[in-house]
Amino acid sequence: MSEILDLTAAAAGAAVRSGELGASELFEFYRQRAQDDQLNAFTWVAEATPGEAAIDGPLSGVPLAVKDLFCTKGIVSQSGSRILEGFRPPYSATVVEQLENAGAPLFAKTNQDEFAMGSSNENSAFGPVFNPWDVTRVPGGSSGGSAAAVAAGSAPWALGTDTGGSIRQPASFCGIVGLKPTYGAVSRYGMIAFASSLDQAGVLTRDVTDAALLLSEMVGRDPRDSTSLEYPGSLVLPTGRDLSGIRLGVPEELTEGVEGIEPGVRAVFDDALRTAESMGATVETCRLPHAPHALSAYYLIAPAEASANLSRYDGVRFGLRVEGDGDLKEMYERTRSAGFGPEVKRRIMLGTYALSSGYYDAYYGRAQRVRTKIAEDFNTAFESFDFIVTPTSPSVAFKLGARTADPLAMYLSDYFTVPMSLAGIPAISIPAGLSEGLPVGLQIAGPAFSEQRILEAAYALEGAFAFDASGARRSGSK
Ligand code: GLN
Repeated sequence: MSEILDLTAAAAGAAVRSGELGASELFEFYRQRAQDDQLNAFTWVAEATPGEAAIDGPLSGVPLAVKDLFCTKGIVSQSGSRILEGFRPPYSATVVEQLENAGAPLFAKTNQDEFAMGSSNENSAFGPVFNPWDVTRVPGGSSGGSAAAVAAGSAPWALGTDTGGSIRQPASFCGIVGLKPTYGAVSRYGMIAFASSLDQAGVLTRDVTDAALLLSEMVGRDPRDSTSLEYPGSLVLPTGRDLSGIRLGVPEELTEGVEGIEPGVRAVFDDALRTAESMGATVETCRLPHAPHALSAYYLIAPAEASANLSRYDGVRFGLRVEGDGDLKEMYERTRSAGFGPEVKRRIMLGTYALSSGYYDAYYGRAQRVRTKIAEDFNTAFESFDFIVTPTSPSVAFKLGARTADPLAMYLSDYFTVPMSLAGIPAISIPAGLSEGLPVGLQIAGPAFSEQRILEAAYALEGAFAFDASGARRSGSK
């Protein structure tokens, strides 16, 4: 059985196609691994292996885990929240449907921060997730269950969502690949919303090839999501192994004199840049003058949108209702008080305040103007550079509990990832090395719809970094 564990999703798919491995055997292998998981990475695991697991289609029967917030028909979809406990949607998210049709059957759902609000997976109503590299540490968030599951070899690949960094940061903390696509490239239909102008579905995988394979079946316009777009061209598996002529920009504002970048992270990042140069890339400093304001703008825009999106949880239409004496309004209050956790309540209060009459322009309006400036900064930078590169997060995975008392310290984990989210551009995190025995991610961001080029560059670098994650894969399951 240990041989299956060593296969990437693409390799497992090839083994199924050649007849060396049965699709049902593969499904059952991962179903068992997920059931035996010790990291609290899952919120639901399939009870049985389908007799004939679907192998038709380009994904060849390799089973898929998806973050809890993707609606899955008839299967609990709770977005990590008590308020949705027991909610079984009558339909599946478009991406889940697309991937099942492409031959990747759903076998598990993964734990996450409540409504995707968090950077450590400690905000889940279903308990924290543990990092397979060191179970006293967080896996990152909010797609921490997906990242931990893939890193621990309890899922061949998984879907996550990224609003301000929630695919890239946990990928970095768990030593795997995470890609957030261009806003609009992938349908949001059936994703339980957090901040609709920022939320994007993306992939968490063992390597860049798996990321390309999974993403290639997800992109495209969906008539059920009016913000989705026709994808220009199609995505193919990357093949090149050199970086000749590629111009990498290192944003001065994000890397020079920034407090809180751990020296070990900085060292891995500097080594990665030297490796890129040795492969033919040029590395130069670039400017993103408004990027230092990204976090402030994000923490107005995201809570504002969240306060509107979460107003639908009223005890009438979905999930939890707390009955008792009093009128309808009191039932709303009881339900929302009991159903939402502290971080969600904090965001609803922030967002409601930012949108309130008299403050709207001073807070929300100004944050939107900063957002436009940040997008313009990227456009200018991409006139001279192919990609912007940064560390994915300023630190390695931190200890459970280390930042829970200090929301601002927690928010800083997304310092490097939030600017790209506000600009709506694609970015990948790939494991670049270790600091203190823990993984460090390199973030590569490109212009809108440059996923293919990002994947090519990431693939080239991945080959040069020779990162070994097999230890983590053997630690997450009984
Ligand atoms: N950590 C950020 C937040 O708490 C980003 C979360 C995300 O991307 N979903 O909002």
